[in-house]
Order: sequence, then C-alpha cells, then structure tokens
Amino acid sequence: MVLGTAILLLWTGTEHLFGFFHRQSVQALSFALVDRVVVVDPGHGGVDPGAVGQNNVLEKDLVLAVGKKLALLLRQGGAKVVLSREGDYDLADPEITGLYQRKRQDLARRVALANNLQADAFVSIHINSFPSPSQCGAQTFARHGSPESQALARCIQEELNLLAPNSRRVPLPGDYYLLRHSRVPTVIVEIGFITNPQEYRLLQDPLYQSKLAWGLYAGLVKYFALRVQN
Ligand SMILES: [Zn+2]
Repeated sequence: MVLGTAILLLWTGTEHLFGFFHRQSVQALSFALVDRVVVVDPGHGGVDPGAVGQNNVLEKDLVLAVGKKLALLLRQGGAKVVLSREGDYDLADPEITGLYQRKRQDLARRVALANNLQADAFVSIHINSFPSPSQCGAQTFARHGSPESQALARCIQEELNLLAPNSRRVPLPGDYYLLRHSRVPTVIVEIGFITNPQEYRLLQDPLYQSKLAWGLYAGLVKYFALRVQN
C-alpha cells in the first residue's frame, strides 16, 4: 500500500492549498470503497418534516437530495449502497397513527437495516436548527466509546470543514437513538443550519448539495482507506 500511503500524505499535506490534488487523492483512494456496504440514511420523511426553515423549506427534502447524490457517488466508487428511503416517506407501518409511535418504529427500522446488513458504515444525514442565526457549519456526532464511529465522524468532519474554511468544528459524542442502538460504524451528520441565513440559501442550492455529498463521500473514502492501511 505504498501508493496509498503516499496519496494519504499528499491528501493531508495539500488539501487546503490544492483542491485539484485533493480531488485526485480522493479518486485515487476510492478503491477502498469497493464492495463496502454503506447505508445512507436521509433523516425524517413522511409526516416528520424534521427542521422547518423559512417559506416551509423542510429538512426531510434537503437531506434526501444530498443522500441521493451521496449514494450515486458511492455506487460509482464501487460501494454497495442502501438508502433507508428514496422518497418522502418514513419506515413505520401505515396503520400506526401516533406520531411518537411512528417515530419509534421508523428509527428502529433504520437501525435494524444497518445492523442486519452488517454495514461497513451507516451515515445518517440531518440539518441543524438553532435559535441564534449565527450558528453555522456541519457537525458530526459519533457513538461514545466506539473508535470506529469516532474515526468515521472525524474523517467526515474534516472534509465538511473544507466547505466552511472558518469552521473549527470537531466530532461530538451524541446520545441519540441511532448511535445507541447501532452495532456498526455509525455517524450522524448535521450538514448545516437551516436557521443560518447563508446556509439556508446554500442548502437549497443543488450545486452546494453536490459539494456536501462530495464531502461526505471523501470522508468515507478516507475512512475506508485508513482502514486498509492499518
Ligand atoms: Zn434531523
């Protein structure tokens, strides 16, 4: 893996200066994706809109767009990708009417999907909201006590930070159902704040959605490439 090591060094040494070389490094390391099982989980769906922005812009729609773009990139790289949802629905049974009960079953099924597939990575995509509009940037959450989850979160966080040069965000431990119940390397990624005026605009822009998908993809490539090295 001499070539891989050299490319990883190039990656870490040049990513801020030479976007072109960074992109080349990601593509050169994409061999590490081949046959990896990745569950891409666009959060919410159906009766659950997630965070709601101005003019009824909904988290569930934005994360689905990014999730589909990520799935496409991963499939092109040779990964076996399963999307938890491909439209505006949740995974609960139709006859369940209570919102709380629907949410419980929906989340349990998303986790079961990743666990049953013994996925190599489980990436749940969300959008943040906060009372103060100044909060911005992507934030990853990892499972406390899971080195795999933390490594995955770190790789993705580093890549998404490149989209916001002033972001110093680092992965945080998250006490969320998905992280507590998953038995595979799992990360929850809040890809931006719907309450920040600039990100509110960007998150609706298909080009920026592609950049976010690329950041998630590059983080996954790096995570798997590092695993091949060790
Ligand atoms: Zn969410």
